[in-house]
Parts: sequence; structure tokens; C-alpha cells
Amino acid sequence: MRAVVYGNDHKLSIQEMPDPLCPRNGLLAKVHACAICGSDVKMFKAPDPRVKPPQIVGHEFVGEIMEVGSDARGFSVGDRVVMATTLSCMACPACWAGKTNLCPNVMPVSRAFPGAFAPYIAIPWEGIRAGNTVKVPSSLEDDGACLAEPLSCAVNAQQLAGVRTGQTVVIVGGGPLGALNAELAKANGATRVIVSQRSATRQDLLRELDLDAVIDAASCDPVEEVKRLTDGRGADVVMVTAPDRTAQERALEMACKGGMVNFFAGMSKDDPMVTINSRLVHYNEISITGGSDSTARHVEIAVALLAAGRVNWKRIVTHRFPLSRFFDGMQVMLDRAGLKVVIRPQEDAR
Ligand SMILES: [Zn+2]
Ligand SMILES: [Zn+2]
Repeated sequence: MRAVVYGNDHKLSIQEMPDPLCPRNGLLAKVHACAICGSDVKMFKAPDPRVKPPQIVGHEFVGEIMEVGSDARGFSVGDRVVMATTLSCMACPACWAGKTNLCPNVMPVSRAFPGAFAPYIAIPWEGIRAGNTVKVPSSLEDDGACLAEPLSCAVNAQQLAGVRTGQTVVIVGGGPLGALNAELAKANGATRVIVSQRSATRQDLLRELDLDAVIDAASCDPVEEVKRLTDGRGADVVMVTAPDRTAQERALEMACKGGMVNFFAGMSKDDPMVTINSRLVHYNEISITGGSDSTARHVEIAVALLAAGRVNWKRIVTHRFPLSRFFDGMQVMLDRAGLKVVIRPQEDAR
């Protein structure tokens, strides 16, 4: 089969790979759709030491079970599934506490196990033993279902940030995860959702969502604009989805007294330091949380939200390509010309 492979040269290319076999205690699935993640863009631009080459990449997928291993239980041929793809050891304090996303022994799909930019994927036992493979109701279309994994990361972060009814939530950075965070904030009961974004193309796409305001961060001071839109008060929660120092630093100025800032996006490991205005944290009693990855439970919640129509995925999936045009999809991501790009490996599978 043809697949997108992270090679020994640390570059992505489309290569011929052996068709996977169904593991005795796992599953074999046909990949219907797999979205391009920001982490895929990162490994396209620079080597990712966490990937064991040669490796098939792609983890935001929905598949259909074609074969169930003789020792696997709980799945039937024809089930459509998505995955919490950060497989964990289930034998450490983080896993015992249910924080499998913080397991120090993670085995992520597309890094430790082959991923889903391919017509077929083998789901190993580690992917079903702890609930990581989640069934999708037939009412949810493939393009929406493959957003369950990225949405689940927002579910985790907004739980940590305590987003709830009646709040004003500002999303800094309106890329795919900014858009998903905005939709989720509404689903979580936020009464005002404001997104700040520099790219004019993405501002236009964000205006297709039912948001209260889209701030053009290229032509105004986003902090001043948030203050103006909130009568000087600031936001209850600021979700920073841009991996950007200034965005993280200035988020503290956007938060109201007693507010919450969530660093949703991770800074580059080569340049991770930010300067925090300690007086804002102290006198305004501002809290700062992180939010990394997600667990099986967060993916279940994401599937339920998507299936219930609570997240407008049809406006967030802006581009679709067959696998042979993966790099056209990558270019859309690099150009920030859309929001979510979905690859459909069955369209040109032999
Ligand atoms: Zn992802
Ligand atoms: Zn663990």
C-alpha cells in the first residue's frame, strides 16, 4: 500500500509499504479519513526525534474495522472507530490516576506504532486494552469523526481551565485548534467567545463560525480590543492556541481579575522561555494552566459532542485531498490557507 512515511532521512515522503496484518489481540482497520495535525507540519519542517523511522505517520483518523484479532474483544467488523492515539503503559502513577496523557512511557500512534496516512492501519492491543479505540455513531460523517482526536485535546485543556456557563472566553490564535477551542467553549456554555487571529484568510473562515467577535490582530492591539469588547473587564478564560511568546505573555493582560490563562500550544523546545508579569498573577489572582494531549475519556466526549452537532466541524474542515496529494494538503497548512485539512486514503487506494 502507498503511505506517508517518516524516513531514515527524517523527511516525509509517499512510499510503498507492506499491507499491515491484523494483530492476534488487536484490530485491522480501513482508514476513511485522517486529518493533518500541527505536529505533522512540525515533523515535515524539522526532524522529530520521537518518531522511530521508517514510520507511517498520521494520527487524527477514523477507520472501519475490517478484521478482529482472534484474542481481541469488544469490536465487530464494520465498526467505525477513532482513537486516543497516545497509548500509555497503564502501569505508572500517572496512568493509575487516569492521566494517561501524562504517562512517561507513552507509545504514540504515528511515532511508536504505524499511523494512518495509509489505506490500512493495524491497531495494537495497547490501543484497545484501556479504551483508546472509541466507536463512532453512524450519524457522524468521516470528516467530522477525524476531528475527535484534536477536539479531545481542547476538551482536556478546557476542563483544566474550568470553562463553564456564562463566561467570556478569548481564544488567541485562530488556526484549526483555535477554531475547535472556540466551538468547544460555546458547547461548554461560554456566552461570549472571541477569537484573535492575524491571518486575513483565517479571519474570513472564522467569521463563518457563530462567534461573537473575530479580532484582526494584525491591525490592532488585541489586548486593547479584548478590553474594549468586555467594557474594560477582560476575559474569564484566555486559551492561547498560538505557540508564540508574545501571545502567551500578553494573555495575562487579556484575563479579568480572578481569570484563567491556558497555555494550550507548546512552545518550541529550543526556545521555550517566556516572561510573566508577576504583578498581574499576584494582584489580579490570575491562574495559569497547561493542557497537553488527551485521554480515551476526552476522545469519548469529543465524539459525543461532534455526533450531537455541538461543534460545527463542517466549517472547520476546509480542504480534502486523496493520499497521493498529501503534500498539496501540507502546503495548505503551511500557507495557513484553510483550517483543517483531511486526507482520504481510500480515494486512490489500489
Ligand atoms: Zn494531532
Ligand atoms: Zn503510564
